[in-house]
Amino acid sequence: MQNIQINSKGIFTEAKFIASSNVDARPSPEDISLIVIHNISLPPRQYGGNGVIELFTNQLNPDEHPYYAEIAHLKVSSHFFIRRDGELIQFASCNDRAWHAGASIWQGREQCNDFSIGIELEGSDFEVFEPLQYETLQTLIASIKARYPIQAITGHSDISPGRKTDPGAYFVWTRTKT
Ligand SMILES: [Zn+2]
Repeated sequence: MQNIQINSKGIFTEAKFIASSNVDARPSPEDISLIVIHNISLPPRQYGGNGVIELFTNQLNPDEHPYYAEIAHLKVSSHFFIRRDGELIQFASCNDRAWHAGASIWQGREQCNDFSIGIELEGSDFEVFEPLQYETLQTLIASIKARYPIQAITGHSDISPGRKTDPGAYFVWTRTKT
């Protein structure tokens, strides 16, 4: 996926696009300056299923797993989700506000969803991420930087300390360098 760019509509054209309705307009559309890295897996630490897609599209069945019953009511999304095999799924245009960070603060600015792009890696805090995921991530980050004035790449745990722990200690930050 080298040299693939994000188009003017905020779409990474090589990604599979699955629209989430948990998205709205950014208060300052030209202010897209932060990338936030997360991890997620549903059920926790089980990979390859449709749980994350179902969560982001409000289709998670609370009867399917005890954890689903706790989170099925949440209205959340992310711009991107990178599967263990490197597959890239996009749920929201980068020009729009996805709902991935929740209560958060970065360099004194609250509501990081307003000015950030969220990238979820399929994984957990307890194991390494796959080389194919880092490959996709690096291509994606380069493409985002080519279109938006990104100032920093940070972790969910950095902007929501005490509340969030992802992407976790196994995430290799040097692999966000492009
Ligand atoms: Zn997160």
